[in-house]
Amino acid sequence: MLKDAYRACRERLKAGGIEAADFEARCLLEHVTGMNRAAQLAHGEKALSEAQKALLISLTEKRLTRYPLQYLLGSWEFMGIPLTVGEGVLIPRDDTEVCVSLCLDYLKQKPHARAADLCAGSGAIALALEKFAKADVTAIELSGKAFYFLEKNIADNHSTVNAKKADVLTCCGDFADGSLDLLVSNPPYIPHRELAGLQAEVRFEPEMALDGGVDGLDFYRAIVRCWSKKLKPGGAMVFELGEEQAGEVAAMMKAQGFSGIRTEQDFGGCERAIIGQRDAAPNSRIECLK
Ligand code: GLN
Repeated sequence: MLKDAYRACRERLKAGGIEAADFEARCLLEHVTGMNRAAQLAHGEKALSEAQKALLISLTEKRLTRYPLQYLLGSWEFMGIPLTVGEGVLIPRDDTEVCVSLCLDYLKQKPHARAADLCAGSGAIALALEKFAKADVTAIELSGKAFYFLEKNIADNHSTVNAKKADVLTCCGDFADGSLDLLVSNPPYIPHRELAGLQAEVRFEPEMALDGGVDGLDFYRAIVRCWSKKLKPGGAMVFELGEEQAGEVAAMMKAQGFSGIRTEQDFGGCERAIIGQRDAAPNSRIECLK
């Protein structure tokens, strides 16, 4: 019976040290049966097929290796947008809503703004900007594996986000100077030496989406330097931040001619995102390498 399968799964997860065992067991059972939580509660007496039982057991065992729940389910929502996820692409986090909300604030009075999402991954940020701000977004991603998910998520959500497979460190020349209203990025920001100590689940995620170099700031430095002049005067740059990176990223933006710089905290009280606007002054110190 469904309710027995649920209980067995929950207990196995709990015994294996999975914190949200209750929630995760419901998710796995929904994945196996197609029945959401309410349906599972209403039809607890329903029998599972042998194949369903076997699948539930194998997913549960795989989860106990700390393989991410989101990869097992194959899809995850970001701000109500369903996204296909799997090995090779970073799983969208709730924390990233902080970064999106700074963008949405800025874009409030600017329908059809031109935006670029650098290091776009699954497309979570790009799709949210299109959905909630009607922005015209280009999403740039270098990894072939991640790009597969990006294109799939754009197609499955009937989105017009433009996916571009390129290295953000070298492709800024493809954009005209002064052409963008908004640049946003959740770049890899984990300091290299911290990678090995990350939560076990995160170590199944692509290192390329996490490794921000020696101090975690490589991408901020390169993006601020190369992309700033792609913004229109008054255009905004928004970043998601790793822990304790706000001060240094703010200083980089300031040095490159940004003003109105402010940060926003996540639910844990960590400064998680930053926004600044490119000065309208014609002789700002912005210089691009490419
Ligand atoms: N938020 C991710 C983590 O803490 C890191 C994502 C990133 O490097 N942009 O694991």
